[in-house]
Amino acid sequence: MTHPIEHRGNELYIESISAAEIAKEFGTPTYVYSRALIEEAFNSYKNMLTSHRSLICYAVKANPNLAVLDILVQLGAGFDIVSEGELKRVLTAGGDPGKIVFSGVGKTPSEMNTALKSKIYCFNVESESELNTLNEVSKKMGEIAPISIRINPNVNPTTHPYIATGMRKNKFGVPKDEVIKLYEKASKLKNISVQGIDCHIGSQLVDINPLIESIQQLLEIVDELKRRGINLEHINLGGGLGITYRDEAPPSISDYIRSILSELGDNNLKLIVEPGRSIIGNAGILITEVQYLKTTSHRNFAIVDAAMNDMLRPALYDAWLEILPISKRHGIEHKTWDIVGPVCESGDFLGHQRNLAIKERDILAVLSAGAYGSSMSSNYNSRCRAAEVIVDSETIHLARKRESFNDLILGENLLAKTEKPRAK
Ligand SMILES: *Cc1c(COP(=O)(O)O)cnc(C)c1O
Repeated sequence: MTHPIEHRGNELYIESISAAEIAKEFGTPTYVYSRALIEEAFNSYKNMLTSHRSLICYAVKANPNLAVLDILVQLGAGFDIVSEGELKRVLTAGGDPGKIVFSGVGKTPSEMNTALKSKIYCFNVESESELNTLNEVSKKMGEIAPISIRINPNVNPTTHPYIATGMRKNKFGVPKDEVIKLYEKASKLKNISVQGIDCHIGSQLVDINPLIESIQQLLEIVDELKRRGINLEHINLGGGLGITYRDEAPPSISDYIRSILSELGDNNLKLIVEPGRSIIGNAGILITEVQYLKTTSHRNFAIVDAAMNDMLRPALYDAWLEILPISKRHGIEHKTWDIVGPVCESGDFLGHQRNLAIKERDILAVLSAGAYGSSMSSNYNSRCRAAEVIVDSETIHLARKRESFNDLILGENLLAKTEKPRAK
């Protein structure tokens, strides 16, 4: 069977469309996603959970494009959101609010209000102050807010420090020695309904043991709460399953869920997971054109038209991404290149020291770019955001038009010559 993203002969294909054709039609830089790969990853979760009460909540922040959400809505996904903007995106894509969980340490009263009005499934509460605020907001609205409390299990997930979230020093969750007290308080609040328990220990996890350790801690808390007359309905283990960028060997989605289910045993709690990266990460690539080859006595630089504003992960996490020419060249020399963007920062690189046979105007593909690529992009250096397309077999959907200069300055004003000074 052919893989949906692979070289066939000399040309890189995304399903039935060549990357060269996409570059020609949509220009560069452009993000390209394979619908088949998104569906395959989501269905791997779904198929493993058919005989367990469960909810798979795609973490919108990994890639919030409406067309991506549309695909997942059609597969019956729930969604994990971290802002009102993400809530509105899910609703715009036709997502079921009854399958939305709301994560994040800083939900504002206004965001709580919108989410309550939308009747979301659950708020993942991260502090006592947040709990109090949520109770007040729901009281004013005459609503009852369904909640789960996020535990900080103090485990070390052995991932990059910026994406480890379940250690004592991280801002996330409630320490486990304070959580029973908080549940007892929550269970007495009139406008709060205690539903579950959750954690999310980090991202790009390749070792399942820290998660297993967290599950054990969560189940101990569930039992202790039961003894105190507080019965939970669900356990939410967050997202975080890693993908292969280079030589990482994370468990497969099936093995990951199998291990979780075996740890849960005959416990009849509904299982919620919040995968982001493992759904969309390997389903997307970023194509970019080589503008200049610049050789110094120290290094060879390939300066491309994608930059850290398009793909921040190398600069932010020192992430390694595979970079390949979309059309394999024969008869030119392989050299070691630093693949860099045009932005005025030395941190602006996509990859260092890559052995490639390339020339100017060649198009390169940055692989495994589907998650935290476009979603972390910015307009730094007044660069317009890249186009995004989804390939579905022989069809190409324009998921996001390349930004224009008018998009770039939307909402900005020159100093108004007519404005009067304010009266003292
Ligand atoms: C970011 C995040 C996720 C998704 O993480 P992935 O590593 O992309 O699977 C899930 N839940 C929460 C609370 C998050 O912050």
